[in-house]
Amino acid sequence: MPQTTCSPSAKAGTKALLSLLIKTWGGSSSGISRGCGVGGRSEHKEGRALDWHMSVKKASQRKRVASAMKWITANNGEVALRLGIMYMIWNQHIWSTYYPELGWRKMADRGGTTANHKDHVHISLSWDGAYKQTSWWTGTPIVEPLNSRCGASGVRACLPTIPRTSKSWPYQSTKVPASFTPAAWTLPGVGGSPQVGRLQRAVPGKWVPAGATLTYQWTSNGRAIPGATADNYLLPPEQVGREVEVRVTATVGSRVETRASNNIADVYPGRMAAAGPRIVGVLAPGKILRINLGTWKPAPTRLTFAWLRDGKKIKGATGSTFTVRAKDKGHKISVRVSGYRLGYYTATATSARARISSAFGTVGTATISGSPTIGSELVGSTGSWNPAPTAFTYQWYADGVAIAGATKARFTVTSAQAGRTLVFTAVGRRSGYASTDVRSAGFGPIS
Ligand SMILES: [Zn+2]
Repeated sequence: MPQTTCSPSAKAGTKALLSLLIKTWGGSSSGISRGCGVGGRSEHKEGRALDWHMSVKKASQRKRVASAMKWITANNGEVALRLGIMYMIWNQHIWSTYYPELGWRKMADRGGTTANHKDHVHISLSWDGAYKQTSWWTGTPIVEPLNSRCGASGVRACLPTIPRTSKSWPYQSTKVPASFTPAAWTLPGVGGSPQVGRLQRAVPGKWVPAGATLTYQWTSNGRAIPGATADNYLLPPEQVGREVEVRVTATVGSRVETRASNNIADVYPGRMAAAGPRIVGVLAPGKILRINLGTWKPAPTRLTFAWLRDGKKIKGATGSTFTVRAKDKGHKISVRVSGYRLGYYTATATSARARISSAFGTVGTATISGSPTIGSELVGSTGSWNPAPTAFTYQWYADGVAIAGATKARFTVTSAQAGRTLVFTAVGRRSGYASTDVRSAGFGPIS
């Protein structure tokens, strides 16, 4: 709940957290309260934000803040939740309990050292945190806010709220609207992290009277998004950098009331998950290496490649294949794959490093002998190699699919292979030589 009212006296929970920070990590306070007439919206004006005076320019202070932040944000912000922290700003970055999985996000440059929070840490608390009613202090978890934005009394009937620009007491009205007019008892909100590819859910808030018909309209930078009228919205790439919010309209009879959610912060690019590119091919000079891309989610629309030798980029080696050079022998080759997609951060994944050794002088030819009928025993041969491999591994395939358990040179055909064409493959291995696979011609179909 952002600041909407004004009662600048420092609240007990805010004071307690500030002194906890100073007692544990040092530093000093640069304030809690702020006059109601000063500047824009701020929880300082409600006594539920603190400024912890620490400087990014001093290594020891930076280190102590890092230690405090680590404690607060660990385990998806467990301590932050228990303290009732809404968000923290430090060194031009923001962290909030709403999106703990997004971590610290860079903020726009606001100008000076203080405006960019390089000489203090700002922490804003929920009302319950400010009133020291959260489980860190009480030991008892709270599942519903105890305090509305109307203050400590626990009285929630405070709608509508007079905007904070009102300087005269009372800062809030405690009038309950006439029962036939729908009114937001608690403001609508949006659930979900504001990141491309993530589902946002409209949280309609609580409306009085109950039973109002609710409809939704999602907006981007204040404009209605055509067709986005469900109670959820999957953030598409074109919303990166925009502010998306939802407007909730409540209707009772002929009375209609619309409330906008609090803005989602700028929508962040999505993250692609990239796992496991692998190098495929014979790891010896003169051979062509290819890439098995592994799994990417969502699929990139463009890929770039960089082949590496002992972890360093090989000049000009940016294709999807790489021909091993004589001078690569004894070195380790890997490939770095970068994936691009509109609205997503670039994702990069690197294969394991593979040592280049010698190629076998002669590689045998794989063949199958026997009868292509159910029940017959087939024998796979690997031909003659020079030097001879010290070990082989085998795999039989039916119509291109590996047959489970068929990993010996001999294979007895079963009815499962009826009508299918078999292939026998072998990988020859010998220390100092690049493992090399051979495959037979198709055998069958089996009858
Ligand atoms: Zn502040």
